[in-house]
Amino acid sequence: MTVKPIALVTGGAGFIGSHMVDLLLDRGYRARVIDNLVGGRESNLAQHAGNPDLTIERIDIRAIEPSNSVFSDARIVLHFAGIGDIVPSIEKPIDYMSTNVQGTVRVLEGARAASVSKFVYAASSSCYGLADVPTREDHPIAPQYPYALSKYMGEEAVFHWHRVYDLPVNAIRIFNAYGTRVRTTGAYGAVFGVFLKQKLAGKPMTVVGDGSQRRDFLYVTDVASAFLAAAETDMTGEVWNLGANNPQEIRRLVELIGGDTVHMPTRPGEPYCTWADTTKIERHLGWRPHISFEEGVGRMMAEIDAWQDAPLWEPDSIAKATQTWFRYLGKKGAA
Ligand code: UDP
Repeated sequence: MTVKPIALVTGGAGFIGSHMVDLLLDRGYRARVIDNLVGGRESNLAQHAGNPDLTIERIDIRAIEPSNSVFSDARIVLHFAGIGDIVPSIEKPIDYMSTNVQGTVRVLEGARAASVSKFVYAASSSCYGLADVPTREDHPIAPQYPYALSKYMGEEAVFHWHRVYDLPVNAIRIFNAYGTRVRTTGAYGAVFGVFLKQKLAGKPMTVVGDGSQRRDFLYVTDVASAFLAAAETDMTGEVWNLGANNPQEIRRLVELIGGDTVHMPTRPGEPYCTWADTTKIERHLGWRPHISFEEGVGRMMAEIDAWQDAPLWEPDSIAKATQTWFRYLGKKGAA
């Protein structure tokens, strides 16, 4: 009997991480999940209950030791754990630095101790700031808010470990991932969770600006397949942009969900359009997206009841949640 390779998935009970676990188990890996279960939920992995190839441990990457047994014999590490909410980062920069930067360093050290064959980092396209589109990997870096800075500093650490310690790493700068199980934490953000809950509650969808802004939304199973390819390739030290290369207007999302709208002020610091130039990842990894925007939104609508217990955001509570954001980023005159 061949021994199945072990994949360690940090943040594996979260949105992207749990879809990563689905794919790994399907492709003959044993999956080891570590998650602090703050943003992640064990229910995201309930479909694998009783599967001996999956283990889940409640571990916080801010405190993990490189000698922790979860790293033992791991072939690959897929690092998704981190704080993903954008808006609160303006109020809690220390939390973002300690988890997204220091936590990443701890996971890198564990991966190094285990001599893994690949470490793949979930980086963020927010490092580009208000970028030219379509955006290539060599675009200048200009983080606009602490979340973006923390994810970029984590990425810098990943490549530092590659240069200094010869750790075989790759990073993928994710544009806008969406799909079932998209996080529904208490924080304001991630347009899908906001709109789906509003739809369920019969409230108007809070469209920022006129909704003509575009995002390069990529369905989460297409994100997971890119990460597996990045883990299995012989290439190392690479960074790839990941999106659908097909940005969608927010008002198209509204149209697909269907319902009334109310308009909110444009958030400073946010790009008008995000659009990944995916030439590099397609050429290097032979990766292609498979789920169209219409199909992806349809899959989420089919499971809309999952957002029943999500927080309901309304114009007043959004104004309050974004107050500090407007205070600091509004004065820059960037929009
Ligand atoms: N958005 C919106 N209403 C909301 C939340 C977000 O219209 O209640 C828009 C937002 O302006 C942006 C898009 O949806 O154009 C995606 O926002 P999200 O916060 O999900 O991601 P990001 O801005 O980081 O791309």
